[in-house]
Amino acid sequence: MQKAFLQAALSGLLLLAIPGCRTSEPEESETTPEKTERHFEWSVVIHGGAGDFANANYTQSEEEAYLFALQTALDTAVVNLETGQSAVDVAEKVVAMLEDCPLFNAGRGAVFTSDGTIELDASIMEGRTLKAGAVTGLRSIKNPIMAARAVMDSSRHVMLSGEGALTFAKSQGLQEVDNTYFRTQRSVEAYFKAKEKKAAEGKMGTVGCVVLDKNGDLAAASSTGGMMLKEYGRIGDSPIIGAGTYADNKTCAVSCTGHGEFFIRAAVAHEISACMEHGGMTLKEAAQYVVQNKLVEMGGAGGIIAVDGHGNSVMEFNTPGMFRGFARSDSTSGVFMYKTE
Ligand code: ASP
Repeated sequence: MQKAFLQAALSGLLLLAIPGCRTSEPEESETTPEKTERHFEWSVVIHGGAGDFANANYTQSEEEAYLFALQTALDTAVVNLETGQSAVDVAEKVVAMLEDCPLFNAGRGAVFTSDGTIELDASIMEGRTLKAGAVTGLRSIKNPIMAARAVMDSSRHVMLSGEGALTFAKSQGLQEVDNTYFRTQRSVEAYFKAKEKKAAEGKMGTVGCVVLDKNGDLAAASSTGGMMLKEYGRIGDSPIIGAGTYADNKTCAVSCTGHGEFFIRAAVAHEISACMEHGGMTLKEAAQYVVQNKLVEMGGAGGIIAVDGHGNSVMEFNTPGMFRGFARSDSTSGVFMYKTE
């Protein structure tokens, strides 16, 4: 059913008719003053990558397809959080949905390495236990986020790579597909265009989800194809706990998207948590400082989504756009792709 919806949206048959679904109006989550005690029963934020949307020239039906896909994923999160599912289950489920959606650079639809293959990275972290799992360089596991979750739940390790990650994922019964499954017409075209120009030109993206559940637990999950024309074997920030993903019930849950090398060097996800824990900053202050000051000074383009233990959420980015959406138990929600000033 969901697949049929997405296919219809992609072919432009479905127009957006979703209340609260906007591309550029002020964001409720940004204008609401931050709460200093637990205010929302649950809270969720998702992203589908940040980038130079100004030069992407999306058509109206493409914009609608992206927003529809984000809204569908968000709706799933809301239903599951309402029924009391854990933050980590919801984060994994939502990221798996976004991996299955061919619009985003994760799972099906991911970008290519310079040698024309697709290599996928993912990670997940639980804020209550500080348990985490990550996989890198997977070429044939349909949902890398499920492999990351299996590493967290069923291994003695935090991160597995390449052949070892594949062997482990298969031992956990995860679905295997041919590497060509991840290709789409759009990603193949983008690959040849990038190769011709010898430039990745903003072709990046990641999907992510951060959650506060009814029990007050936080979780974060991220999954990506990395950056277009990346070197064979390159690993970005997304599978690195503390760089692309982090969750700690004491502070916040964070998922990042952007130029991974900068996010690794700035340890972005953990830095936001540390600014709260040791610097006394609120979530909003910490996110703004890291994304708009620290990263910008280094030359790092991208953004983050995060939620704290009170249910405050942020979607902070220094690129022209970021596919994103939020929902909270007070019924406020929205999906967006451009800047909202
Ligand atoms: N952070 C990802 C990477 O560097 C790409 C992205 O989010 O745009 O692999």
